[in-house]
Amino acid sequence: MNCPYCSYHDSKVIDSRDVNDVIRRRRQCLSCGARFTTYERVQPSSLFVIKKDQRREEFNKSKLLTGIRKACEKRPLPTGTVDKLADDIEAELYHLGRTEIPSVIIGDMVMKRLKNLDYIAYIRFASVYREFTDITILKQEVDTLVNSEAEVSQPASQLPLLPDEELQGLAKSHHRRRR
Ligand SMILES: [Zn+2]
Repeated sequence: MNCPYCSYHDSKVIDSRDVNDVIRRRRQCLSCGARFTTYERVQPSSLFVIKKDQRREEFNKSKLLTGIRKACEKRPLPTGTVDKLADDIEAELYHLGRTEIPSVIIGDMVMKRLKNLDYIAYIRFASVYREFTDITILKQEVDTLVNSEAEVSQPASQLPLLPDEELQGLAKSHHRRRR
């Protein structure tokens, strides 16, 4: 850990304490004397994600978080929902005890949760993740959802928040059909 001020490579620990599962260390740079804090936590054994093109990539939670956050953008969700969702998925993944996991499974885990959380966020995530290239396939997905999840309700007042015209059209027809 290099000093954040002068980049010197060595520091001494002047204080160390446990905070939950994290060890917080107060350090002092051996070169410039600046003090800074580091946090240390146990890294669960590495988890690799197998992508659709069969490439392997180390599981990256912030990437997962970015994807979910994008889907939930401007949706009326309580603060912390997105982080909790990513935490849950991470925990579930490590719980599986596997060293490799297909990206498809992770995507499905996210979709399953978003579906119960927010209809629009779900569709947004699905449209990116499933790489819907044409609107017909996206519409099929919406129709399937509408047919199988009649209990998913979105107050009409939320519908105009949709940024995408095409999605908006779909949502409207979805709304009409449910009346
Ligand atoms: Zn320094």
